[in-house]
Amino acid sequence: NSLTANTALPTPGRTPTAEPLLRLESIHKDFGPYAVLHDLSFEMSKGEVVAIIGPSGSGKSTLLRCINQLEPPTRGRVSIGDLSIEAGRPLPRSALLKLRRRVGMVFQSFNLFPHLTVLGNVSLAQVRTLGRSPKEADARSLQLLERVGLADKAGQYPTRCSGGQQQRIAIARALALEPELMLFDEPTSALDPELGLEVLAVMKELARDGMSMIVVTHEMHFAETVSDRVVVMADGRIIEQGPSLKVMREPENERVIRFLRAVW
Ligand code: ADP
Ligand code: MG
Repeated sequence: NSLTANTALPTPGRTPTAEPLLRLESIHKDFGPYAVLHDLSFEMSKGEVVAIIGPSGSGKSTLLRCINQLEPPTRGRVSIGDLSIEAGRPLPRSALLKLRRRVGMVFQSFNLFPHLTVLGNVSLAQVRTLGRSPKEADARSLQLLERVGLADKAGQYPTRCSGGQQQRIAIARALALEPELMLFDEPTSALDPELGLEVLAVMKELARDGMSMIVVTHEMHFAETVSDRVVVMADGRIIEQGPSLKVMREPENERVIRFLRAVW
């Protein structure tokens, strides 16, 4: 496995707290007549890194999108810190903004603004959402670009950057709002393996620095070595979850055993 060299070491120094961060209670999601998530409940603590794996179509992306209300759940409750959002109730815009600030998201396709420079991409939301001055925002953006190893690209346009660089810019942009939780939806699937590695390295560093993260991934090595917990989904349900090594090495559910055998 080509990832071994970069991600073989566990992440020392990480200590997830017992402080609750996110709680999902009986999340149910229908698309028309089709139920895609079935009464799914889940909790995570501050500082925890959770990998979600499972077959295509099992509802992993929908679950992430329900957490930050890109897709409103049909039923159930999403709570993050003191913010609690109940499906079916009107969602005040102030609550939605609060949620979006607390929860950053990185997609498979990087979705950068092509007409803005790299620096502009990272600064925009800081000015619009946090009310920072452009000067403050740019200073912060440079720090974040430094953190993802791209300070030298600040003045470039994203189309001049490789896919791996674009994804690292997207990570810096999400971090700029100082989220409490980062959601990653297959952040390396669109990338050549060696470009995926540089993105995984940045994510691993984030994890080591204590960021709370939920990562939907096909990178089984990342799931095993970087995450604290692995959640396996199938058909809109969590079919197994537990400490990463346990789930990846000694899964109990028959479907999980077959899935891991097929992909790993
Ligand atoms: P995964 O990310 O695990 O591959 P998804 O959450 O993307 O799974 O999809 C779960 C199921 O929901 C799939 O059957 C998919 O076709 C369906 N689905 C996802 N988004 C929509 C949508 N906007 N409208 C209708 N069906 C959808
Ligand atoms: Mg998906």
